[in-house]
Amino acid sequence: MKYAVLGDIHANLEALEAVLADAERRGAEQYVSTGDIVGYNANPAECMDRLREIGAPAVQGNHDHYASDTESPDFFNPIARKAILWTRHQLDAGHRQRLAALPMTLRIADFTIVHSSLFEPEKWGYIFDTGDAAASLLLQQTPLCFFGHTHSPAAFRMKEGRVEFMPYETLRLEAGWKYLINPGSVGQPRDRNPLAAYALYDDRQRTVSLHRVEYDMAATQAKILKSGLPEADAVRLSFGH
Ligand code: ZN
Repeated sequence: MKYAVLGDIHANLEALEAVLADAERRGAEQYVSTGDIVGYNANPAECMDRLREIGAPAVQGNHDHYASDTESPDFFNPIARKAILWTRHQLDAGHRQRLAALPMTLRIADFTIVHSSLFEPEKWGYIFDTGDAAASLLLQQTPLCFFGHTHSPAAFRMKEGRVEFMPYETLRLEAGWKYLINPGSVGQPRDRNPLAAYALYDDRQRTVSLHRVEYDMAATQAKILKSGLPEADAVRLSFGH
């Protein structure tokens, strides 16, 4: 089976459609989302509906959580907070309920998905370095886990108490190691590469490959400006930051 792993879509419908088309061309048979389906960009409901249409299981991201809630998102920075409040108003009760019902972690076949970390996922900590990765890897029950939240592709692996960081394009999964992999962000990359990112996991070949896809960014940016979302959310897309 070939799985397309979609991280941090963030309501960017143009990027999502481009990624789905690319993944389909490469033979993807199943789609999964590591959360933050909504927030920042202008098409939260449409992205949720598209994922539902293709039967993609998802875990809950922090933006999904706060967009589904009435709790004040005070501890977000002002730009993220404005986008969350805007998103809340865009979604109907059904969409908000669907976001609220998303699980924090999910096991799919021989791998797990989580938004932030398997270590205290409800605290939304980030996995940036091997120390952060170790806390999650120690709790990982499957040989492979995909996470999101940082919007940057990265891979870590652990064996016999040793944790390694590995930048990757195509990674061959070796027996005896546990892998913790970020597919990058579909809708708001932050690794200084503005192209939409996603990963393909091939469970027969035992490989995970990273893919970058061009999309109609100008359309996404125009929607942000027209909708009254923060201009900074449009600008950052150009820089992948
Ligand atoms: Zn995110």
